[in-house]
Amino acid sequence: MNFHILTLFPEMIEQGLNTSILGKAMQNGFVTLDAINIRDYTADKHKKVDDYPYGGGAGMVMQAQPIYDAWKAVVESIGHRPRCIYLTPQGRTFNQDMAKEFAKEEDLIFLCGHYEGVDERVLEEIVTDFVSIGDYVLTGGELPAMVMVDAISRMVPGVLTNAESGTGETFEGSLLEYPQYSRPVEWNGKRVPDVLLSGDHKKVEAWRHAQSVLRTLEHRPDLLDEAELSLADVKQILAILQEK
Ligand code: SAM
Repeated sequence: MNFHILTLFPEMIEQGLNTSILGKAMQNGFVTLDAINIRDYTADKHKKVDDYPYGGGAGMVMQAQPIYDAWKAVVESIGHRPRCIYLTPQGRTFNQDMAKEFAKEEDLIFLCGHYEGVDERVLEEIVTDFVSIGDYVLTGGELPAMVMVDAISRMVPGVLTNAESGTGETFEGSLLEYPQYSRPVEWNGKRVPDVLLSGDHKKVEAWRHAQSVLRTLEHRPDLLDEAELSLADVKQILAILQEK
């Protein structure tokens, strides 16, 4: 999977994504990252990439020409026109299903805006997907692009060393993940739940599932609309609630 990121701040992207699991995924060739400096493509002799908005108003607007030429260079180098995502607070809100869907692509282009945004005409020419990472306004599209690259990369086969660790996570089946514990058995007067020490895998599975449902009910009840719950789930939750 190849990420091509059009940005005015390539070093921010490179530094932000070079470490830990993603760094290793790049070293091992599961994903590649190409941060392209839009400024390198400006036809302006002073290397300008932005200008005042027509009609007046605050701030500057990123101009169409350098963005279009940077995008065209990527398209020509890979020999096809992949999906091009414009990071914008006006887009569809990014979620795990979208991460899975984008992970099926071989190439993805991301366009990071800055200042007041981007000349609408180039968006009309090149963008296939308008995506937001949440209902707030950031200074640029670099952090949103990094968030998306991270979440999408985890869904690319081979990136996570243990294939299991990408499944059964929060949002799978529209549930939050169950609570996790590690050594020691007792810390700060709190014990790990006995069932997790029992060695009985069936019981552990059942406990984890019930905890997932309960946690979703407590923290994100909106997700339960989409979750498939059995009568046994409901009974177990009621039992847990009665014990509390
Ligand atoms: N004037 C624009 C508006 O009101 O829609 C906001 C521009 S914002 C200051 C600058 C850039 O940051 C945007 O072009 C976009 O690329 C990025 N950005 C800001 N908030 C974002 C969000 N929530 N999700 C994705 N990208 C965002």
